[in-house]
Amino acid sequence: MTNLKPVDVAIIGGGWTGLLTAKEITEKTSLSVAVFERGGPRKLPDYALTMDELDYNIRLRMMQNTAEETITHRHSLKDSAVPVRQHGSFHPGTGTGGAGEHWGGASFRFLPDVFTLRTHLLQKHGAAKLPEDLSIQDWAVTYDDLETRYWKAEQMMGISGKAGNLRGQKVDGGNIFEGPRRQEYPTPPLKHSYASSMFEAAVRRLGYHPYPTPAANLSEP
Ligand SMILES: Cc1cc2nc3c(=O)[nH]c(=O)nc-3n(C[C@H](O)[C@H](O)[C@H](O)COP(=O)(O)OP(=O)(O)OC[C@H]3O[C@@H](n4cnc5c(N)ncnc54)[C@H](O)[C@@H]3O)c2cc1C
Repeated sequence: MTNLKPVDVAIIGGGWTGLLTAKEITEKTSLSVAVFERGGPRKLPDYALTMDELDYNIRLRMMQNTAEETITHRHSLKDSAVPVRQHGSFHPGTGTGGAGEHWGGASFRFLPDVFTLRTHLLQKHGAAKLPEDLSIQDWAVTYDDLETRYWKAEQMMGISGKAGNLRGQKVDGGNIFEGPRRQEYPTPPLKHSYASSMFEAAVRRLGYHPYPTPAANLSEP
């Protein structure tokens, strides 16, 4: 057995959560941190040269190996829980980066209403119309509380997009239903594909407000 050098903080799992927590702790404190990741590291050649479709897309090499470790599932309370041995649409990642290595990168902020959903439902329907055991709660923070944090994360990731609500001012071409942003996105929106250009033109004619998806896929350096 190898004895590692003692550290102040051990983080289990090197996905977005673990790695960002490590980054914050080491930037803001003098604590030492070790991140333990069950999967292997990945280097540029893994992507550039050997992305074999069968290996990665069909055999799901970047995903948790369900033969080794998985979640359990039961269809009803009467069933026994059984291990899930085949991935469906839910693809938990493995290896440094976690699911962030193969995610789509769509990087929306939550809408302001999401944080106060319980209040919203009570106002709209009245307590009498809602089930007594309604489990939905308001968050302990609001969109406004998080706005500067969203901005910090968006800068760190270089999110591409177009603002639709700048300090309360609706901006055509962005998502006019989003919560107010203090700044434009750090990088411009990704270029439209031919199909998305056609889609945009078509839905504009119908009176909708199409906008480019905010993406953690850089549109420029
Ligand atoms: C296919 C797919 C597409 C997605 N697309 C988007 C998107 O477009 N936009 C969006 O916002 N979100 C998207 N998501 C969701 C997003 O990727 C995840 O919410 C996010 O990456 C989760 O990060 P995490 O660090 O919390 O967890 P994970 O990324 O799951 O990281 C956990 C890490 O812990 C490791 N680990 C687990 N157990 C142990 C252990 N016992 N010991 C050591 N290491 C361990 C795992 O290997 C993994 O690397 C997508 C997810 C998937 C699966």
